[in-house]
Amino acid sequence: MERETMCIQAGYEPKNGESRMIPIIQSTTFKYDTSEDMGKLFDLEAAGYFYTRLQNPTNDMVAAKLAALEGGTAGMLTSSGQAANFFSIFNVANCGDHVVSASTIYGGTFNLFNVTMRKMGIDFTFVSPDCSDEELEQAFRPNTKAVFGETIANPALTVFDIERFAKAAHAHGVPLIIDNTFATPINCRPIEWGADIVTHSTTKYLDGHDVAVGGAIIDGGKFDWMAHADKFPGLTTPDDSYHGITYAEKFGMGGAFITKCTAQLMRDFGSIQAPMNAFFLNLGIESLAVRMPRHCENAQKVAEFLQAHEKVAWVTYPGLPGDKYYDLAQKYMPNGTCGVISFGLHGGRSAAEAFMKRLKVAMIATHVADAHTCVLHPANSTHRQLTDEELIAGGVGPDLIRLSVGIENVNDIISDLAQALQ
Ligand SMILES: *Cc1c(COP(=O)(O)O)cnc(C)c1O
Repeated sequence: MERETMCIQAGYEPKNGESRMIPIIQSTTFKYDTSEDMGKLFDLEAAGYFYTRLQNPTNDMVAAKLAALEGGTAGMLTSSGQAANFFSIFNVANCGDHVVSASTIYGGTFNLFNVTMRKMGIDFTFVSPDCSDEELEQAFRPNTKAVFGETIANPALTVFDIERFAKAAHAHGVPLIIDNTFATPINCRPIEWGADIVTHSTTKYLDGHDVAVGGAIIDGGKFDWMAHADKFPGLTTPDDSYHGITYAEKFGMGGAFITKCTAQLMRDFGSIQAPMNAFFLNLGIESLAVRMPRHCENAQKVAEFLQAHEKVAWVTYPGLPGDKYYDLAQKYMPNGTCGVISFGLHGGRSAAEAFMKRLKVAMIATHVADAHTCVLHPANSTHRQLTDEELIAGGVGPDLIRLSVGIENVNDIISDLAQALQ
């Protein structure tokens, strides 16, 4: 199947007389005829459902659709993008371990890694996505367990050289984890470029309608845990909490990562997506292949309009020829990148405030990447506690306006920006 077809049909095949749309299994628990039947589930000897804190059939249908779209072997949904990124790392790195991450990543993920996961004893080294081979090499340590980056970083809009970082990760015997939220599998499939694990904040384009917070993890199934058994004892030695099962042996390269992540992390942390939210997510994914090209087409026109406007000081959009990341974007996302643009006005911070107040179509919201055009001034909202000097050091200058171009008629979006700039 092509991706357009997968968006509609993958993950669920109704049998004779069954509902055409995926059913919402709104049930915490599942009934069995005998205790022996249930015992087999608890021992991971048989596949099935027993409690929605770990797994739910509706979620699994949607996760299977996402796994197909990303070209992976297994997938799972989480309650948020934050939970997905936390699980993806914590499934391979524990107290005393170390991870190499791109420095240009979503602020929430940076905080998770740099503050909260450090408290758990996991150390991080942040490298610029543009670092030299030498700097990248120096970032690795004997206890490094993974490399992490975002296909297109939110909000820096840097494009990650997936192939290059995959090579470095594999040379050190560790997986590359890619947060593919902004590109979506319609515009980029990181597994095809060497990534091992893909994560998503499904809250963004995958849902696409501001309806449900959620996340997803997909395994490419190509990382050979057993070949690096000493680095990943959680996958390659017996798990006492499941009668001594060794995940990499029992579930193989295609299933070990997601099975362990479900059986241990979802069981113990319970960050499951509500089945109702999984249903909404599936509805969003059905139109993803139609929405993404429209987001990119609109954003391209808006970026060109802004670039030509006398009051606009600068525009960052990887689809613009001349953008620092244009060539990498052409390589990894030849059909378009995303709908998010950042720009600044000659009048700086105060001009940004005056401009945004006058917008009528673009709405001020702490959100990106959905059908509605929305706009945010980080210096005045998410990054409000920082001084101008700190803002500049963090790559989010006091004048930066983040514009998420929706799928409305682009002429309405441009007229709105024009009147507000005027
Ligand atoms: C929003 C976002 C997240 C966090 O996702 P939530 O669903 O808000 O928890 C992670 N990564 C990226 C790239 C994001 O844009």
